[in-house]
Amino acid sequence: MSTIFKKIIDREIPADIVYETDDVLAFKDIAPRAPVHILIIPKKEIATVNDVADEDAPVMGQLFVAAKHIAQAQGIAESGYRLIMNVGDHGGQEVYHVHLHLIGGHPVGPMTVKKK
Ligand code: 5GP
Repeated sequence: MSTIFKKIIDREIPADIVYETDDVLAFKDIAPRAPVHILIIPKKEIATVNDVADEDAPVMGQLFVAAKHIAQAQGIAESGYRLIMNVGDHGGQEVYHVHLHLIGGHPVGPMTVKKK
């Protein structure tokens, strides 16, 4: 099933696009958790990492190539950043179109919160 990200790919709804190739799109998160918070997505609709096929390996790799370029363009390559991909319910995934969060611009804190 298509998500809001497909509408962004198709330019049906606006987004602040920062990077684009034939296969990858990146845009600013609508609710940023840090000074830099960018979502990097494959244009192919893949719901979660559980749905990644063998033939998707190149585009999944391109998400990281995009992250490198975007981090450099945003001036945070040297200071560092975090890449997060949430998967499913327990992973906190809200939009079921695979996406890599690129988060930085300040120290991003602990990787996860220990729950009782
Ligand atoms: P998830 O929880 O699925 O890993 O992350 C989904 C992210 O998409 C959230 O950080 C949320 O703020 C962002 N988001 C949801 N809807 C939109 C939208 O319409 N535009 C943009 N730019 N970001 C969105």
